[in-house]
Amino acid sequence: MIIVPRKPAGPEQLTNICQSLARLGLTGQILNSSNATVISIQEDVSQFPSHVFNQIPGVEKVIRVQSQATLATADKTRSVKLPNGLVIGGQTPVIMAGPCAVEGQAQIVHIAHKVKEAGAHLLRGGAFKPRTSPYDFQGLGLEGLKYLSEAREATGLPVISEIMASSQVEAAEPYVDILQIGARNMYNYELLKEVGASTRPILLKRGFSATLNEFLNAAEYIMSQGNMQVILCERGIRSFETQMRNTLDLASVAALKLMTPLPVIVDPSHGTGRRDLVRPMSRAAIACGADGLIIEVHDNPTAAFSDGEQAITVETLEKISKDVSSLCQALGQDLRVTPVIAQS
Ligand code: PEP
Ligand code: MN
Repeated sequence: MIIVPRKPAGPEQLTNICQSLARLGLTGQILNSSNATVISIQEDVSQFPSHVFNQIPGVEKVIRVQSQATLATADKTRSVKLPNGLVIGGQTPVIMAGPCAVEGQAQIVHIAHKVKEAGAHLLRGGAFKPRTSPYDFQGLGLEGLKYLSEAREATGLPVISEIMASSQVEAAEPYVDILQIGARNMYNYELLKEVGASTRPILLKRGFSATLNEFLNAAEYIMSQGNMQVILCERGIRSFETQMRNTLDLASVAALKLMTPLPVIVDPSHGTGRRDLVRPMSRAAIACGADGLIIEVHDNPTAAFSDGEQAITVETLEKISKDVSSLCQALGQDLRVTPVIAQS
């Protein structure tokens, strides 16, 4: 942490600040350059809130050099491995695909076979649906989860589904391989702590208005409870643009890959809200370094119970799977994002 003293920073003021730091058990080191004097603290200050430093007399501002999300940003391999051996955040991007909502047993088993044939590695399907209107289809709940696990049995595809409340975590665990926390719940810290105690990997979606710092701190909430198996998902943010449902922030994917070792996947379905944009944005996501995609697919998109406008057909999914393979072959290791040091 860097402490910037109020100007003009006299010797007495600097000493008083260092003494206040000493009372907190910290060592302040005064650094002088030709045009500024600052105090540096080398110790871990992640447990101290910023106001503790801001309220020391003579302090202008404090700058945290390291993110408080220490687990989510630590320099460690954090790929997620599922019991069937599938690795998310490994060498090859993964594709999660399926309907927005589980609509019935026959429907989900049928789509599961279809998306598997089209190249998907995981089956998605919502059983608890966070809908904007309380009068819209709310999902089949536990019954939907049971149908999902039947689809898993029939195809061997691991399944991912969203839970919206703490009470749903334990109920969902036997039926799903990955628990999804939706964009609306990224700020639900009690729920994040709850899934932090789960043994299942967690797919955490970015909130509509979340900064990357808030996003990583939400991941930190989960990890702080012991669950290190977190996958981040960029799903678009709110902007002034009205042509798309959301603005898919792909720069965040490349930026996150520099900030965190956690796998980062992209949802081009909610990210655009338009089926005609799902394939181009899937390509772009893989090209900028995403570890995978989560895509809404329906065998009859216009009849879907929810999000039909953004659902693609199985035929389009097959094309996207081929795009992903071609991009990986063409770009190879170049898909890895590496820091660029500015040349002076
Ligand atoms: C979903 O994946 O079904 C969903 C509701 O997504 P989001 O939370 O990103 O809106
Ligand atoms: Mn949806």
